[in-house]
Amino acid sequence: MFIKKIGIDLGTTNVLVHVPKKGIVINEPSVVAISKVDGKILAVGIEAKDMIGRAPDTILAERPLKDGVIANYRTTEAMLRYFINKALGGVHLFRPEVMVAVPAGITSTERRAVIDATIAAGARAAYIIKEPVVAAIGADIPIGAASGHMIIDIGGGTSEIAVISLGGIVACGSARIGGNKFDNAIIEYMRHKYNLAIGERTAEEMKIKIGSAMFMEKPLSMEVKGRDMITGLPRIFLATSDDVTDALQHDLEGLLDAVKEVLHKTPPELSADVIDKGIILSGGSALLRNIDELISQATGVATYVAEEPLLCVAKGTGIALDNLENYKRSILATK
Ligand code: ADP
Ligand code: MG
Repeated sequence: MFIKKIGIDLGTTNVLVHVPKKGIVINEPSVVAISKVDGKILAVGIEAKDMIGRAPDTILAERPLKDGVIANYRTTEAMLRYFINKALGGVHLFRPEVMVAVPAGITSTERRAVIDATIAAGARAAYIIKEPVVAAIGADIPIGAASGHMIIDIGGGTSEIAVISLGGIVACGSARIGGNKFDNAIIEYMRHKYNLAIGERTAEEMKIKIGSAMFMEKPLSMEVKGRDMITGLPRIFLATSDDVTDALQHDLEGLLDAVKEVLHKTPPELSADVIDKGIILSGGSALLRNIDELISQATGVATYVAEEPLLCVAKGTGIALDNLENYKRSILATK
């Protein structure tokens, strides 16, 4: 089957590629490995991420997107090119139409940059759509209706909060709070409270395996391996969900403040809709235990995690591409 359409979730942490009727064909970290010697791109995605921490000093592993914006145009283009080619497979006769989901906070210059990079990477046509809008489409929210829906995408670098009505964003906000910050907060907490130095991977594992946004009645626990900061020797420690909850307090409060701010900016008619319909969560960090319950308690609005929250944005790009006519109001730029 020839691939004619490709949807891309250009995330700060992960890039996902969706092909209509095939589903998610690529799901890799947004990392590019560059040679410090001549600036050449050595690897992209999983291969590049595996180089982090293991590569000689001459190799730099870079994230082309940071805090929801393009930090480096050249590596972003290289990454897009790599993933588009990988999705198309070896020989391809048709140049595909490509839809790219970008963070809502992206500037018009950056938007152009993504379009140019997508065309340069081999697309026949490129469409740009805002992440919260496609996340909503991927979460099966009828965004075209004249009714307000709130979606919160909690990713790795940022949380994007938006109220959508008639296919567009009526109120939105963004906070530089997401999974990466959670991991760092866990590292800091373990260091301060237990004099235990742990790495990023361990912190993320704690968050995923035992982490919770609210204190649990029956906390989970796991053995964590780190380095004792006083003796300098390896130490095993039994961490519990409460440790993670404690560690994340500050960041979660920041997230709740950002959500409340968007609710305050929402026109009253649409607020009423949000109360009726509830808040939908997408993004990988929506998988943190009890984060729905926390948001629900803090806002008084029922909150639900979308099905497969990590895949919402990518699935949404695929659906939007397959129904361009229906979603044309939501598309920001085209070439
Ligand atoms: P982005 O859109 O920024 O690329 P994603 O939506 O792909 O980010 O989410 C990535 C984040 O989700 C990472 O920080 C990862 O640790 C986090 N994550 C993935 N699974 C879970 C889980 N089960 N519990 C908590 N966090 C998770
Ligand atoms: Mg995302």
